[in-house]
Amino acid sequence: MLSHDDIKDFIESQLAVWDLAKRNYDALAQVKRRNVVVDDIVVGIQWNPGRIGSTGAKIDVKSISERLCFLCRDNRPKEQLIFPIAMGWEMLVNPFPVFPVHLTIVSETHRPQSSVPEDIVNIATELPGMAVFFNGAHAGASAPDHMHMQAVLKEEIPLIALTERHHGNSDFGIKLSSQFGLKLPFFFISGVVAPDESGLKTLVTGLNTGGLSNNGELNDPLLVNTFFWIDNSGLLRFIIIPRKAHRPSCYYLDGEKNRMVSPGSIDMGGIIIVPREKDFESLTSDEIRHIYSEVAITHDSLI
Ligand SMILES: [Zn+2]
Repeated sequence: MLSHDDIKDFIESQLAVWDLAKRNYDALAQVKRRNVVVDDIVVGIQWNPGRIGSTGAKIDVKSISERLCFLCRDNRPKEQLIFPIAMGWEMLVNPFPVFPVHLTIVSETHRPQSSVPEDIVNIATELPGMAVFFNGAHAGASAPDHMHMQAVLKEEIPLIALTERHHGNSDFGIKLSSQFGLKLPFFFISGVVAPDESGLKTLVTGLNTGGLSNNGELNDPLLVNTFFWIDNSGLLRFIIIPRKAHRPSCYYLDGEKNRMVSPGSIDMGGIIIVPREKDFESLTSDEIRHIYSEVAITHDSLI
């Protein structure tokens, strides 16, 4: 199990030897943030020009086949340090951070982002205090061809704080966001994993829930965002966000109505990342609600 100091030391040693990453972490101090109330959740909008590569990533088969995979060890910059976090997985400092602690955990082998890896549980256990998250190949992953997860401090994610408040940690099992007694812009599933047999069932339910597939079931593994974390009482918890689309319609519009927003787990977790200043200045609460309703499942649609 890694302490917060272990992680801080890893990031510091990385930034000491890699100028690009150092510049990008220094630039985080200038990143602008404003909060917008969307129903019963306060969503942060972060203007982060460094994320343009990820937000605008072309993930069609042709574009992916024409570029070198930037998560494969042979193609990574020689400065990038490796922390062996678990069997088969390498932990890296994300050189294009959204938060001051932002790690990428990549499979040692080149294989597609096909479904939530069970190892997310071991990795969350290794990283107490951090939220380990997974973007399905059609739900925000900018490298859908190479299996990976990311990790940030759990305090950074508004949806985690909201979930911990409305799904108490003695209430083991699954709780749906529709049972929170709140008005929320999209549907998700929360799990508190008991340390026994019933916890295993909860976990299996979580790992097997996916996005909206063509037959109307929540089992498409490519259309899902998940967070796994150990809470302050030491229990394993998760949030599963089934998705129905990769990007909102405004991403594809021309002119004034165009918005460069491409939601992954962090955006669904309540921090919308925008690389362009004009989107940062102008995004409204109604637009954010609409974006969420286009890429995820609304509570109205469940009735
Ligand atoms: Zn690769």
